[in-house]
Amino acid sequence: MEIFNQNQRDTFEEARERMVRVQIIDREVKDTGVLKAMRKVPRHLFVPKEYENEAYDDNPLPIGYGQTISQPYIVAYMTEVAKPDKSKTALEIGTGSGYQAAVLAEVVGRVYSIEIIPELAKESAERLRKLGYKNITVRYGDGYKGWKEYSPFDIVIVTAAAEQIPEPLVDQLAENGRLVIPIGAPSEIQELILLEKKKGKIEKSRLTFVRFVPFKRL
Ligand code: SAH
Repeated sequence: MEIFNQNQRDTFEEARERMVRVQIIDREVKDTGVLKAMRKVPRHLFVPKEYENEAYDDNPLPIGYGQTISQPYIVAYMTEVAKPDKSKTALEIGTGSGYQAAVLAEVVGRVYSIEIIPELAKESAERLRKLGYKNITVRYGDGYKGWKEYSPFDIVIVTAAAEQIPEPLVDQLAENGRLVIPIGAPSEIQELILLEKKKGKIEKSRLTFVRFVPFKRL
C-alpha cells in the first residue's frame, strides 16, 4: 500500500473533489468541517488495490471478509447528523476499512472504534497509524457492549445494521449525545435512526433508508 504525505497532492485529488461536489454537496450535506474532511481523507488508500480506481465512485466497495466500505455520501451524511466538533469524543462500531473513523477524526477530538473481525481491526489500525491519525484508537471486539472505559460519548456511530438498538450504547451516550444507527433485518433495506439524549431522556428520529452489512455478535 502506498501512503502519501497528507500535505502532498495525490493523483486522486480531482476524483475526490468531484465526489464531494456531485455526491455530497449536491445532496445537501453542508457542514463545512465534514466537507473539508471528505476532501482530505484519501479514500483510495482504504480500499483494496484492485478497487483503487473506483474508490471515489458513488457506491460501497468490498474490503474483504464479506464486508464493505460505505458509500461516500452515507459516510458524510452520518457524520453531519452526528453534529461533530473538536470538543467531542466519538465511538464508532464497525471499523471496517477505517475510513469512517478517519473522517470522524478530522472533525472531532477523539475517536474510539471497535471491529469484530480481528484481521480488519489489525489492518485498519495499521493503516490509520501510517496515515498519521493519532486521535483514533481501534480495538478488536464485539461493539454491542460499547467501550465503557472511555464513555460517555458525545457521538456514537454504528456502521452495521442491527435488529435492535444495543442498550449499552444508549447507556454510554453523554447528555446531549447523538447516536446514529441503521436498524432493520439483515439483507433488507434498513432505516437510519438518530437517538438524542436530552435531560436523560431518549428522543428518536427516523432519517432515511440505507443498506448496511449485518451487525454480528461474538
Ligand atoms: N465504517 C466502515 C464500514 C465497515 S462495514 C468503513 O468505513 O469502512 C461494517 C463493519 O462492522 C464490518 O467490518 C463488520 O465486521 C463490523 N461489525 C459487525 N458487527 C460488529 C460488532 N458487533 N462489533 C464491531 N464491529 C462489527
